Amino acid sequence: MTLIKVAPPLDQEVDLTKTYDAVIVGSGAAGGMAAHVLTELGLKVLLLEAGKKFSLPEINAELRSMQWPYDHPRRGDFPPGNHALSFNEYQIRKPPYAKGSAFRHVYSYVGGWGGSDYVKNILVDEKEHPYTGTKYAWVRARLLGGKTNIWGRLALRLSDYDFKGKTHDGYGEDWPISYADIAPYYDKVDTYLGISGHKENLPHLPDSLFQRPVKLNIAEVQLRQKLAGMGRVLTPYRAGVTTDGVKNKYRNHCMGRGACNRRPGGCDIHAAFDSPTGLIYPAMDTGNLTLRTNSTCHEVLVDKNTGKARGIGFVDSVTKKSLEAKAKVVIVAASTLESARLLLLSKSPQHPNGIGNSSGHVGHNFCEHVMGPGITGLVKEQVGKSHTLDDGRPGGFYVPRFRNLTDKQPGFIRGYGFEGGSGDEIFPSSADAPGFGAAYKKHVRDYAGAYISMGAFGEVLPRYENYMDLDPVVKDAWGIPVLRFHYEFGDNEKKMAEDMAVSAKEMFEEAGIEVIGVDREVLTEGWSIHELGTARMGSDPKTSVLNQFQQSHDVKNLFVVDGSSHVSASCQNPTWTIMALCWRSCEHLGDEFRKGNL
Ligand SMILES: Cc1cc2nc3c(=O)[nH]c(=O)nc-3n(C[C@H](O)[C@H](O)[C@H](O)COP(=O)(O)OP(=O)(O)OC[C@H]3O[C@@H](n4cnc5c(N)ncnc54)[C@H](O)[C@@H]3O)c2cc1C
Ligand code: SF4
Repeated sequence: MTLIKVAPPLDQEVDLTKTYDAVIVGSGAAGGMAAHVLTELGLKVLLLEAGKKFSLPEINAELRSMQWPYDHPRRGDFPPGNHALSFNEYQIRKPPYAKGSAFRHVYSYVGGWGGSDYVKNILVDEKEHPYTGTKYAWVRARLLGGKTNIWGRLALRLSDYDFKGKTHDGYGEDWPISYADIAPYYDKVDTYLGISGHKENLPHLPDSLFQRPVKLNIAEVQLRQKLAGMGRVLTPYRAGVTTDGVKNKYRNHCMGRGACNRRPGGCDIHAAFDSPTGLIYPAMDTGNLTLRTNSTCHEVLVDKNTGKARGIGFVDSVTKKSLEAKAKVVIVAASTLESARLLLLSKSPQHPNGIGNSSGHVGHNFCEHVMGPGITGLVKEQVGKSHTLDDGRPGGFYVPRFRNLTDKQPGFIRGYGFEGGSGDEIFPSSADAPGFGAAYKKHVRDYAGAYISMGAFGEVLPRYENYMDLDPVVKDAWGIPVLRFHYEFGDNEKKMAEDMAVSAKEMFEEAGIEVIGVDREVLTEGWSIHELGTARMGSDPKTSVLNQFQQSHDVKNLFVVDGSSHVSASCQNPTWTIMALCWRSCEHLGDEFRKGNL
């Protein structure tokens, strides 16, 4: 079923003899937002995306948000010959993980996350896209819209506890902006794309301009009330989902249906934000955006006389033919790790260490979120109660950071938050119980909605020695050198993870929830899919790559508008901040462009 009746805009003819005002690399949250803001400002923009384009009916057929497991021949699983990497494979082996695999196609762990058939054409095949170095669970989506097609939608703001982290606890660097600088742009993103949530007035998790919140169920309300007594907050999932609707003919408002909460997969009525329907199609409707998919970019081209960027070198992803696009401004938005790779690949006599890399910081100061510890409990009062629809909502709840705000923890700095949920799921945990027959069925039904669980996401500190560079030998299927990881969690992350398990247990016990299991194991580096920091912003060109407008210190017509610019990771999910920052930078870019300063 589809409720979207509107055809997407027709592609404009790609004219590679022409010099565009701006060329954007990548069409995810960052590239899509750059396309939206710049085309509204009247710039003529070329958007290059390495992956393929699904038409609207094609992507809806891929996502199948309303499909029940029994409607699928393998209950949502991959076809034979496909394999999703497991935690053990990431832990025991070293990348490239698909090397020597007997499977025809190998995907990241997200492919094994309860519904792999829905992401097999969205995730990259690790056989074509290897990487090397230290262990890392790298999740990539190469298609129009990138990872926004399947993101989890938790949409949070950062605060001055994040932007001014060094001032607060002395570690790392402050960002060159404060909350007041970005707040108006968070407001613009909220209004343009829609976000659901509930106001809590917390200084460390600022409220958005919320639409109707996701409803908490009884067990979640019970936990919220008990946590309030501990001075902690449980708030409805702040979802990058329009619940009341936005002015956008390609999107519908959330109807609380489907399998939103049961697998990685998008929303086939596009109530959940995705870059194509939220940003790119409306940008195409301005007549100012030309889109070229299947365009794998491998070099920012440089003018020999001025050292400025003059365009992009790319190969057609299907024919492998080498091509060039010319533009007055180059905007890199290929996602944190791919953007760093592209900058490092762009070596020239003017920029021998890679473009924009006179500081030597490109690829360094990598940061993200550490996850793994979490808890599952049983809310006994809910056993045998009538059932509720808890899969058909964009999320459950969020417990914001409560550590190292006014207190000082002995073992670690910074903090973590919990994502969680309770209620009836399509695959109820109670089905794991032993037994058979009528008694077993009754048990499964009675206990189906009585479980509650939550898992933590903690801030990983940026460290110069955590970095990625280019592998001198290994290349991808297009002959482009791949990234090599030099990265591992440090002591702060490990101590923080120990505390996550302790505090989770403490909260459930306080709420009178029977603890069924506590996870203490830390998941592999990269698992959070929140990679950040490889081209950080700053005021000092010696220790940072970009200024506060995500503009290269070295090359004034080069901008890097994704999470690579983030100075620290915060523990809040990054996508809403990526888009707010990008909006701010592109307005600045537009001003400078008009003044002839680029
Ligand atoms: C399962 C899942 C759950 C998530 N949950 C959340 C969440 O709850 N909250 C949150 O904030 N974030 C979440 N994220 C992360 C979120 O998706 C990313 O932060 C966001 O998509 C980043 O946007 P981006 O534009 O930087 O990168 P992407 O969305 O990855 O887009 C980058 C684009 O660039 C293209 N590209 C890459 N290299 C090249 C090249 N050389 N040439 C041309 N194009 C190129 C890619 O194909 C891709 O389309 C989740 C991600 C996943 C996969
Ligand atoms: S619950 Fe809402 S956001 Fe999720 S798939 Fe359904 S309509 Fe889309």
